[in-house]
Amino acid sequence: MSKYVYFFSKEKTDGNRNLKDLLGGKGANLAEMTNINLPVPPGFTISTEACEVFYSRGKKWPESMEAEIRDNVKMLEKVTSRKFGDYENPLFVSVRSGAAVSMPGMMDTVLNLGLNENTIQALAKKSGSERFAWDSYRRFIQMFGDVVMDIPHHQFEEILQNVKDEKKVSLDTELDTNALREIINRYKELYNKSTNQHFPEDPWQQLVHAINAVLNSWNNARAIRYRQLNGITDLKGTAVNIQMMVFGNTGESSGTGVCFTRDPSTGENVFYGEYLLNAQGEDVVAGIRTPQPLSTLKEWDRKAYNELIEIRKILENHYKDMQDMEFTIENHELFILQTRTGKRTIFAALNMAVDMVDEGLIDRETAISRVPAESFSQLFAPILSDRSKKKAKLIAKGLNASPGGASGKAVFSADDAEEWAARGEKVILCRLETSPEDIGGMAVAQGILTATGGMTSHAAVVARGMGIPCVAGANDLIVNAGEKTLRSGDVTVREGDLLALDGFTGEVFSGSVKVRESEIVLALRGEIEADNSILLRNYSRFITWADEIRSLKVRTNADTPKDAKIAILFGAEGIGLCRTEHMFFESDRITTFRKMILVADGVRRLRQAIEEGTGNREKLEAELNEPLAIYYSAVEELLPLQREDFYGIFKALDGKPCTIRLLDPPLHEFIPHNEEGQRQVAEGMGISFEKVRETVESLKEFNPMLGHRGCRLGLTYPEVSDMQVKAIMEAAILVREEGMDVRPEIMIPLVGHWKELQIARKRAESVISRVLEEKGKSSDFIEYSIGTMIEIPRAAVTADQIAEYADFFSFGTNDLTQMGCGFSRDDAGRFLGDYVRMGIYDRNPFAVLDQAGIGRLVSIACENGRKARPGIKIGVCGEHGGEPSSIDFFHRVGLDYVSCSPYRVPIARLAAAQAEIRKKTDS
Ligand code: PEP
Ligand code: MG
Repeated sequence: MSKYVYFFSKEKTDGNRNLKDLLGGKGANLAEMTNINLPVPPGFTISTEACEVFYSRGKKWPESMEAEIRDNVKMLEKVTSRKFGDYENPLFVSVRSGAAVSMPGMMDTVLNLGLNENTIQALAKKSGSERFAWDSYRRFIQMFGDVVMDIPHHQFEEILQNVKDEKKVSLDTELDTNALREIINRYKELYNKSTNQHFPEDPWQQLVHAINAVLNSWNNARAIRYRQLNGITDLKGTAVNIQMMVFGNTGESSGTGVCFTRDPSTGENVFYGEYLLNAQGEDVVAGIRTPQPLSTLKEWDRKAYNELIEIRKILENHYKDMQDMEFTIENHELFILQTRTGKRTIFAALNMAVDMVDEGLIDRETAISRVPAESFSQLFAPILSDRSKKKAKLIAKGLNASPGGASGKAVFSADDAEEWAARGEKVILCRLETSPEDIGGMAVAQGILTATGGMTSHAAVVARGMGIPCVAGANDLIVNAGEKTLRSGDVTVREGDLLALDGFTGEVFSGSVKVRESEIVLALRGEIEADNSILLRNYSRFITWADEIRSLKVRTNADTPKDAKIAILFGAEGIGLCRTEHMFFESDRITTFRKMILVADGVRRLRQAIEEGTGNREKLEAELNEPLAIYYSAVEELLPLQREDFYGIFKALDGKPCTIRLLDPPLHEFIPHNEEGQRQVAEGMGISFEKVRETVESLKEFNPMLGHRGCRLGLTYPEVSDMQVKAIMEAAILVREEGMDVRPEIMIPLVGHWKELQIARKRAESVISRVLEEKGKSSDFIEYSIGTMIEIPRAAVTADQIAEYADFFSFGTNDLTQMGCGFSRDDAGRFLGDYVRMGIYDRNPFAVLDQAGIGRLVSIACENGRKARPGIKIGVCGEHGGEPSSIDFFHRVGLDYVSCSPYRVPIARLAAAQAEIRKKTDS
């Protein structure tokens, strides 16, 4: 018979930390902490497998589960010497969710369960505080009504507020027993009215309902959204933790708090956290009261504080990572309610990883594995410019809850944030406090601002997780979501007004503030003193460790010397893709190139006719003379300019390899499509508008991405590629003559058939020999190679044939995804979101490699290519080359390098090291 329930107590514990998949993170760690004798209230965990079965049986418990739960309740009664529903010595429990991956605030929790008209008397008597007992009962009804019965939270809040107003008090803690009773009566009326039922008195019934609510919350809209946003797939479900209640709200001798073993924002090795006296856990996270910093706890209760410090050390040494703990102090007795690996900013992750290596707590490989590569680019994220901050109006200062600088237009609801962002606006989401419902709006905001709440409030935790700058608890601000305004003194910010946040300092500015580059970028460029920055020092050491571990090389996609230089600062080991089309758009050459395009098709047709012997050869040749002259003069004009382009790039690379792709896009992309643009072209070139329009019409294709582009251009208009090859070689010779190393790699795009490459290669080789001969150089003067992109499925499956003519392959996974999945790169965005929501693809396949499909093409091509040509160099230059999970795949199939945009180079270096460690661990 399956086991679904796992007990934990000093006397007996079934689980441990390694059972996260089964017990969820919370359950596994409660068991583990019990095992190492920390003060954890006893309880039991219903496994994630039970949740899986619950859903597979149409929301019914597994058959044996009820009996197991009843046994475990009995066991809990025994170890606590209390009884569920007892009139003298009742047991109260909390019921909490907890999946294998933490999903903060997304699923449900019910506290104070077991309270009813009878047990409350016992609680009051035992604790000696009637007020506390009624406060707990009030909280229970509210939570149960909201979480289990879906009665809107605000209806309870309204009752609470009305009674506070009637009693003329402002804090919950100022409500006396009579007031609390009044609230409870009104809560029960609301419950009655909303559900047509009485509030359940029987603790077992309460428990069954609460367990079901938690199981159901696994698939509530916000949990589903959270999993989608975070790419969390293949989990069984949530576990349910039922644990003896300890009360932080018994009065001034109790409290509750959240703490981190190190600063989750900066990574500094300081004990960090906050707490509230006379409160329950939800009060801290909800951000309704602003909590006290942990350092003041010692003045209130030195013993509990010292004990907490001791537990901080024990937990960090035990888990060898920063922990995020929840604790409650009940009548001066400390209990730990939860520990988990603490979420942290990327800055903290990096600083902590390096510190922990220095402290001997972890090794370098662990440090490398622990920093999320996807978030690494945040290190280079923009910050607010100091100069522009000085000129702006500082309107508030809150908590520096999540680092980074953000500027945008103020919006006051998550829905508005999504709507404005969809229109391309940059927005700052301003809320009194955020709640899990706001998750969609938070994800699209540049920054998040809240007027209440602490460092562990929902806004702070979620923003840090998403890498979005956040200022929380800016108490000076009056946020009015209804009016869509915020006020600070005499300044009023309305919807659409500019706001800026500094997530490093907690400052909030109205008006326009410039956002500038990060400290690391400036230091890498030598614009600030590197030694002054701890972050930069740690970054340099850390990324060097990654380089020492990885074998996969990292190149960059760069088309200009400027981009190449930036990429090298970020550690690129060469250029993996230099797209040459952008060079033709430059103002000094677009007109020349257009001249060429306008006659290109005429040249091609006349040549064809001559070759096929159709028509009068002499006449045709005479006809060809004029367009050909235009053609060649354009080539002559373009040649020196292209040579200059390549010269600049080779110089910037200083001997590093450079893959240059011959012209790829269809020619129509170089001529405007609208009449106005075409008229301007005609005027500029001194030809008729009709001629321009005619050319555009003749170049029109129904499906240009599958049309006359890539090597097909080079084969039909060979002069363009000849000119490019010539320019590459002449530039290489110049650089080489200056004593610098140069390694050009000429790449033929969009090859689908080996014969295309055979012809293109032969032609390129003859141009190269001619250039070398003209310049009086030996054939080995330039170390060049000729290869191809593998971006057409046919090329992937015939890679063995293609390899004969290729010195290297570079996977163009953008086109390979387009043609392999049959999704237009330009249009599929319209439905790919739905596809991801429906779970057909886990992620957008243009961003994250579809390993089962496109990945299969990649591995077939690698395997067959290498069989035919052992040692052939293979890389990837599609967008996936900078995406960590795709990089892991490329490493596993044995690619030599990945190539990505300059700012993703550090991500790729780290991801490549992580892939190496993973591969080693897996094998
Ligand atoms: C590709 O197709 O993956 C590629 C790198 O080329 P482009 O994006 O320029 O088509
Ligand atoms: Mg391509």
